[in-house]
Amino acid sequence: MEILVKPCGEFYTNCYIVDRSIVIDPGVGAFEFVKEHCDEVKAIINTHGHFDHIWDNKKVKEYFNAPIYIHKNDAFFLENDPFGFNPPKVKPDFLLDEGEIEITGKKFLIRHFPGHTPGSITIEFENDMFSGDFIFDGSIGRVDFPYSNPEKMKKSIKKFLEIPYDKRILPGHGPTTTIKKAQKFLPMWLDYL
Ligand SMILES: [Zn+2]
Ligand SMILES: [Zn+2]
Repeated sequence: MEILVKPCGEFYTNCYIVDRSIVIDPGVGAFEFVKEHCDEVKAIINTHGHFDHIWDNKKVKEYFNAPIYIHKNDAFFLENDPFGFNPPKVKPDFLLDEGEIEITGKKFLIRHFPGHTPGSITIEFENDMFSGDFIFDGSIGRVDFPYSNPEKMKKSIKKFLEIPYDKRILPGHGPTTTIKKAQKFLPMWLDYL
């Protein structure tokens, strides 16, 4: 397995490419990065619907004829940006729920962790977990945005603390961490929320 990453746009939103065929969170300018490294794209998966994670969805979808996957609770962001930045509007192709999905023979485990947004997810593939803006290295996503919910974030953190195994975490911004490391710093955020 190969994972490529590029921080995109003014918020340095990480766009990840898995095995040169699956694109996670194509933010501002990610299209050029994807075009440079992929001959084909089999799926675009959004960890959540914020503009900086979905900005180049439309370009990548149309150029590669690739379907967009997003959690059902965040699909509305693709056509309604509450921040007013107005990324190119595009319709999702598959609405995700918690559970396993298969894309070209690869199995991805989707977990639903609402709080930062109603449809924030983590995407697990082999020994990696893409965490979007749910968990960063040492912190968590903001819960003071429109459609954020601190109470749901608390529940999501408690649910995350139950994960019994370790994996590398690749967040939506900043450097990597691990599930075990996150489980150590997360209880502090429960007190803060
Ligand atoms: Zn976000
Ligand atoms: Zn973000």
